[in-house]
Amino acid sequence: MNRIPENESGGGGAAKPLAPATRLVTAGRVPSEQYGFVNTPIYRGSTVLYPNAEKFLKRDARYTYGTKGTPTTNALETAWSEISGAAGTVLLPSGLAAISLALLSCLKAGDHLLVPDSVYRPTRNLCDTVLRRFGVETSYYDPLLGADVASLFKPNTRAVFTEAPGSLSFEMQDIPAIAKAAHARDLIVLMDNTWATPLFFPPHARGVDLAIEAGTKYCSGSSDLLLGMVSASERCWRDLRATFEATAFCAGPEDVFLALRGLRTMQVRLLHHQESALAVARWLAARPEVARVLHPALETDPGHALWKRDFSGASGLFSIVLKPMPDKAAHAFINALTLFGIGASWGGFESLVIPFDCAAFRTATAWQPDGPTLRFHIGLEDVGDLIADLEGGFAAMRAVG
Ligand SMILES: *Cc1c(COP(=O)(O)O)cnc(C)c1O
Repeated sequence: MNRIPENESGGGGAAKPLAPATRLVTAGRVPSEQYGFVNTPIYRGSTVLYPNAEKFLKRDARYTYGTKGTPTTNALETAWSEISGAAGTVLLPSGLAAISLALLSCLKAGDHLLVPDSVYRPTRNLCDTVLRRFGVETSYYDPLLGADVASLFKPNTRAVFTEAPGSLSFEMQDIPAIAKAAHARDLIVLMDNTWATPLFFPPHARGVDLAIEAGTKYCSGSSDLLLGMVSASERCWRDLRATFEATAFCAGPEDVFLALRGLRTMQVRLLHHQESALAVARWLAARPEVARVLHPALETDPGHALWKRDFSGASGLFSIVLKPMPDKAAHAFINALTLFGIGASWGGFESLVIPFDCAAFRTATAWQPDGPTLRFHIGLEDVGDLIADLEGGFAAMRAVG
């Protein structure tokens, strides 16, 4: 065994729990099982060989078949469970696959599901197409509802999905209040925790039963892989694991290896993303062209009190609402930027910007920002360089004016 896990679990008994930064380094690593090498290697494989017929019939082995796990996947599952405070974790080939499996593990035909209107848009598509086809009815709710979400519970409501802050629009949700209301009715609480990661929002300690992370984002940290994790509280772990085994939507070993590598530096990167994003957000908030900055860690944000109460940090993603202006002025701003790529996804080392419009697909709440809206991901570049680039963008905006 690695010496550090031994210290943690053993001997003295009253050992102080390890801090998150330490857990990121130690969790899921057992060098003594890898000939002393620091990292768990990439195990590729379908077939697992058994010593005799009897053991094969009983599937009596630590690893039984490639789809069910390898030492590589086990390392990340174990680490993620430890960091999340979960009973168990499964790995999926993308974040959206993780959302799909989490929902499949707790719903059946005839059930009703509540989803916030601010949800990541592909989640909405999944609910409105595949889940509907399998007889699950979805209602969208105002993400600001908190405990009042209970007023929307029907006799067949089975689960409440949450995401905080909301994708693109950054509304905060009162997750503990929603969880309390849901648990009073024995409903299951799911959360897409991709923005904060378990480092800044410990989902299960706040009442979430099934927490989803697009590992594609900050766990990768390099925009070079697709991966999803679902971690479960004790109550949901058996059904999650059984659904995973029944469907075998398993992640590829190279991607899992790269995610393990990213995991070890995730806190350092997140703290840097947080600091740079806040600096850029504050600078943008003071610009005459900007009407509002949507970032819950800013004191002026309507979700700030909830963020401060429940979260221990903010990542590098936020949005802005520009003052009323033609779209072509906003596009000129984006097109003039040289350090901000234009593209979906985020969480890598590089800065990104996209235009967006939530009005087109909301159904439970109105989205009326009164000006063009842009989402930024602040990467690991120098903040002074990023601000200089944004100044150039505003100059191009004025030229179109
Ligand atoms: C990107 C993202 C996902 C999906 O991740 P993929 O790996 O791209 O499928 C899910 N939820 C949120 C909030 C995301 O930003």
